Amino acid sequence: MSQTPLKPLPLPDDITSGYWEAARAGQLAVQYCPGCARHVHLPVDTCPCCDTTDLQWRTVSGRGTLYSYTVVHDAPAPGFADSLPYIVGVVELAEQAGLLVTTNVVDADPGDLRIGLDLEVTFDELAPGTVVPQFRPRKA
Ligand SMILES: [Zn+2]
Repeated sequence: MSQTPLKPLPLPDDITSGYWEAARAGQLAVQYCPGCARHVHLPVDTCPCCDTTDLQWRTVSGRGTLYSYTVVHDAPAPGFADSLPYIVGVVELAEQAGLLVTTNVVDADPGDLRIGLDLEVTFDELAPGTVVPQFRPRKA
């Protein structure tokens, strides 16, 4: 008997749990440093600018633009075989220049992508209770 292999699932820890909890609630959240008045992503335990550990999780708009992308044609693990080809993108969030999130871009034809394309967050439940933010072209 065969079974479709799963994609690797995220393993939230003390630093990243705010990101995954927000996703489970259908929201995109990134860390914010009140001292620097700047968002920070990837999640960290100390602000890379001022070394404070007083970082907050803030829900963001879920809007951004395509900063970079690649189209994956070879599955890196068996769980990805059914998704080929798929798009891995870097999205610059609307809240701050240089605030980048690496993600999948879904509901898009690779031939229609261009740098600067308007995107919006969407969520995929990979397994019960495990929800992953992804982005798709924003509808006008
Ligand atoms: Zn700071």
